[in-house]
Amino acid sequence: MNPKDAWNAAYTQLEMQLDRASFDTWLRDAVLLKCEGDVFVIGVRNGYARDMLQHRLYRNVRRILSDIYGQSVELRFEVRRSETAKSEMPPQAEMPLFRLLAQQESHEEPPAPLHQQVARPQRPDLPECELNPRYTFDRFVVGAENPMVYPAARAVAERPGMAYNPFMIYGGVGLGKTHLLQAIAHECRARGLRVIYISSEAFTNDLIDAIRQRTTAMFREKYRSADVLLVDDIQFIAGKDNTQEEFFHTFNALHMFNKQIVLAADRHPSQLEGVVDRLRSRFQSGLLADVQIPEFETRVAILRMWAGERGIHLPAAVCEALANRARTNIRELESVFNQVVAMAQLSRQPLDVETVEAALDGYRKPRNHVTLAQVLDITARHHGLSVEDLIGPRRNGPLNQARQIAMYLAREVTGASLPQIGEAFGGRKHSTVLHHCNKIANDLAEDELLRNVVSTLRDRLCTGDC
Ligand code: ADP
Ligand code: MG
Repeated sequence: MNPKDAWNAAYTQLEMQLDRASFDTWLRDAVLLKCEGDVFVIGVRNGYARDMLQHRLYRNVRRILSDIYGQSVELRFEVRRSETAKSEMPPQAEMPLFRLLAQQESHEEPPAPLHQQVARPQRPDLPECELNPRYTFDRFVVGAENPMVYPAARAVAERPGMAYNPFMIYGGVGLGKTHLLQAIAHECRARGLRVIYISSEAFTNDLIDAIRQRTTAMFREKYRSADVLLVDDIQFIAGKDNTQEEFFHTFNALHMFNKQIVLAADRHPSQLEGVVDRLRSRFQSGLLADVQIPEFETRVAILRMWAGERGIHLPAAVCEALANRARTNIRELESVFNQVVAMAQLSRQPLDVETVEAALDGYRKPRNHVTLAQVLDITARHHGLSVEDLIGPRRNGPLNQARQIAMYLAREVTGASLPQIGEAFGGRKHSTVLHHCNKIANDLAEDELLRNVVSTLRDRLCTGDC
């Protein structure tokens, strides 16, 4: 068989074997330029496709081509001149976003001169995805109500891409979904894997930024080069068509290479309205595990763990009183626990049931809707600053901490999204807000003074004492 026929047959076979998105993105307009001995020189659309083929699909393509050609071949991918590539590009009626992205890519990457057409490995930076150091497996208490989710998460962390793929955790607020996702992320990262943990909101924002800044090729490469991609709160992609489309292709590209995908949502995928069927069915194609409301014993065990970590003696009666106050989710339990600890430290009283009852009677959820303006105002006044200081660009130690506290409180009591909070703080990025909130959440565990400030301000906001 001559090289041209061999390439044409391999091309047809690849089209059948690869998923549609990968084939269209990387191989659709690839052509055989020449054959030098046993080296097939393949022309591709741009540097991005060249790198992907060289580094991710090389073995696959070579195997198929060698089988057809009847002898072992080597491959070299080169970028073709964009005019030629464009004129030969077949019409793609489907995937409007891809068409848009492909056009942008040809702007981004003019063809390199021939002598520079050597495949370079490209490893774009990972998106900002800070992990909470406290969200680890050993800090996750396994209760009788959740027999499956913990062992499944561990199995995924131990054998990413092999055990269950995708792995999806779903269930109500404050039941440990984020904790488990990040525990998987910690483990995989510790083993040197390329891990991306991101909320679906941040994924959407990243995509929007990429389209705006014409860096969509980097965007795709970034997500598709992950060994483990964990997307939290996937329910927020509902109604966002471009995000869903892009995520669908990211999902397929990763899945094809046995890269692990882990998702969390607040409900079963079949209940995710506004999410296209093909995505919902992908979500259900692996293992689904739900998180349930913790039973009394689980709540007590969690309280004991927290108390132990802080070196606090929690008498059994106090522990039970706390566990009985927060029955529906662990975030609430955490809030009650922090409240009581702060109260005990402020009053220098030993922790007894009376102290606890007194603290809990004072603990109220927001009576009215708390606004971002109220959070800014009360935090600024407490620190002797102005709201302009908090939302302005200046940074110094105390100002920075006041700003971080305000963001943390805004997230906790207003129900505003990260981008909305960023907007209220002078147009800061959602990832910056998340970073600051995580910083406070971590510091709260160690810093008694900070705990007092946060609980005082929270109290005033929640009781309407502004
Ligand atoms: P979700 O993402 O489901 O809303 P999170 O993972 O943010 O919930 O959990 C809320 C808080 O409760 C976190 O501080 C988390 O560490 C804690 N938490 C949840 N489940 C457990 C558990 N089983 N053991 C220990 N801590 C837990
Ligand atoms: Mg969560």
